[in-house]
Amino acid sequence: MEPYRAPAPRPPTPAEIEAQRVAAAWVDLRWRRMFSLALFVGFLPVNVVVYVILAMAGITEESKWFAFAYMAICVVSGIRNAFFRCPVCKKMFNLRSLALECMHCGAGPG
Ligand SMILES: [Zn+2]
Repeated sequence: MEPYRAPAPRPPTPAEIEAQRVAAAWVDLRWRRMFSLALFVGFLPVNVVVYVILAMAGITEESKWFAFAYMAICVVSGIRNAFFRCPVCKKMFNLRSLALECMHCGAGPG
């Protein structure tokens, strides 16, 4: 027979809160990397499509501004990756954008 009421959930311990924070930071790092990679891979096809669409509308000169803006977003994304802080030691994670472990403490997203 089930109890009348479910027991109240216990509050998370500080260690559990810290583990959740670190896990969320690794998820954030993965998303940042995937976003940067998608931007990098999509640079040529997206810009070709935009150029073709603008050419059909008869305005080819303005496609360079889209390409510049796209490049700027790529640069900002790369800088954001480079300045990711390790959630374990709180220092800069790694200057290599595809590094798998922290250059200070060796922790990584696994
Ligand atoms: Zn670290």
